[in-house]
Amino acid sequence: MNISSEEYYFDIGANLTHSAFKSVLDEVIEVSQKNGVQLLSVTGSDLLESQQALAIAKKYPESIISTAGIHPHQAKNYTKSYFSEIIDLLKEDQVKSIGETGLDFYRDYSTPSEQEKSFEAHLEIAIDMQMPLFLHEREAHKRFLEILKPLSGNLPKTVVHCFTGTKEELLEYIELDFYIGITGWICDERRGKHLEDLVDLIPLNRLMIETDAPYLLPRDMGVKSSTNNEPKFLPHIAKKISNHRKEEFELLISSIYMNSLNFFNI
Ligand SMILES: [Zn+2]
Repeated sequence: MNISSEEYYFDIGANLTHSAFKSVLDEVIEVSQKNGVQLLSVTGSDLLESQQALAIAKKYPESIISTAGIHPHQAKNYTKSYFSEIIDLLKEDQVKSIGETGLDFYRDYSTPSEQEKSFEAHLEIAIDMQMPLFLHEREAHKRFLEILKPLSGNLPKTVVHCFTGTKEELLEYIELDFYIGITGWICDERRGKHLEDLVDLIPLNRLMIETDAPYLLPRDMGVKSSTNNEPKFLPHIAKKISNHRKEEFELLISSIYMNSLNFFNI
């Protein structure tokens, strides 16, 4: 993949299969690229979305990759045969990680036991294939670690995406050598202020950034709160992070970009 601009970004989590993008997808991608977002990973959160994410990646093979997996909210859909179709997607060239998967006890769209069953199936196949793991955890840190820790010697590269937790939680993820994905949550003066102090604790070679578009619009950009978040806003998140890190901006963003290439084996 060619890197043509001085400032380049990799959005490791964009939900471009969302209906908000249906009629404007090409434009959203084009504008993002003009804003330096050279690469992005479209997140799959169930079978249909993982198939749609792959279709988008195939349409833009130079700039888009995808994930395949079952989000904890969708874990109630997990069956062996359903999951075998996810596994088939993982064999596609453009599918670069397994997920998102994990635990979310904040919303109980699927029960904890449904979530754990699906999560464990993802972990088993990720270890088998040594395929990068794209993890989601919300209000479930303790149980999440109980499941992951015993596997830590065998786990592939792992990212905890959209990290919003506490210092203690962050340090435990760093201890396990996980990558950490930071979103525009850090731009939220109501909920994300604490991340300003934590973001400097993330090792430079483990930090990645993402928009989680169309969700989590950075609240400090002065645009209407009803605006859809888009990958084009990723540089804003990088700048916000830079304000709370020691490195020069150029070193920071090039490191973040390289981390993302390394993480996804690109
Ligand atoms: Zn998530």
